[in-house]
Amino acid sequence: MSGKLFIVPTPIGNLEDITIRALRVLKECGLIACEDTRQSIKLLNHFEISKPLISFYSYNQQKRVPEIINKILNGSDIALISDAGMPAISDPGYILVKAAIDNGIIIEVLPGASAAITALVGSGLPTDGYIFCGFLKKKSGKMKKELSQAASLDKTIIFYESPHRIIKTVELCLEVFGAQAQMCIAREITKKFEEYIRGNIESVIKQLKSKKEILGEMVVLIYGKIK
Ligand code: SAM
Repeated sequence: MSGKLFIVPTPIGNLEDITIRALRVLKECGLIACEDTRQSIKLLNHFEISKPLISFYSYNQQKRVPEIINKILNGSDIALISDAGMPAISDPGYILVKAAIDNGIIIEVLPGASAAITALVGSGLPTDGYIFCGFLKKKSGKMKKELSQAASLDKTIIFYESPHRIIKTVELCLEVFGAQAQMCIAREITKKFEEYIRGNIESVIKQLKSKKEILGEMVVLIYGKIK
């Protein structure tokens, strides 16, 4: 009899943000596929979970999919986790889910931590409709195009950005949306230095530039019309 594929979200900072169900599934499955085994072992040790791990990251996922699918078809229950948050959301997972569906495998997706949704709720920007863009394209022309297309939907735009590109990116947002569009940068969510920087784009840029260093993980949210 075929096993199942479990998609298991893990904390995005605070280790308390793992569900009772996630812990049970990780304890009961036969194998855990994870992005970086060194990273996941810390989490699993913390919860005293000892399971065989198999790496599943952006550069080996194509090769791993048939291997994992075969194991499930042969009866193993396999859990997929990523380094943090919901697997398959700007993390490896999509192609495995697709292959599982194509092979008639039952998939259980556990709800849990994801930076985008947490940031949306804390941003104070409209939550009734949103567009999640993952990581935007890096070239400024392509980034502008993506932002303009997203803005045409009149919904809160959410994307992930790294600290070393953040100033350049928010300055580009200023060009696309103008100073008055509302912005929020949700930084280090659930961690010790959690911070929500809110205001119009101009004010957010000022607040960012007033910092000696901009560190940590961040989510950018914008609500506004293009100029
Ligand atoms: N799968 C993850 C999720 O469900 O949120 C996202 C993985 S993606 C590779 C990592 C990006 O998510 C970071 O660069 C950052 O933009 C965002 N992120 C993850 N954890 C975060 C946190 N604690 N605070 C703010 N942003 C975070």
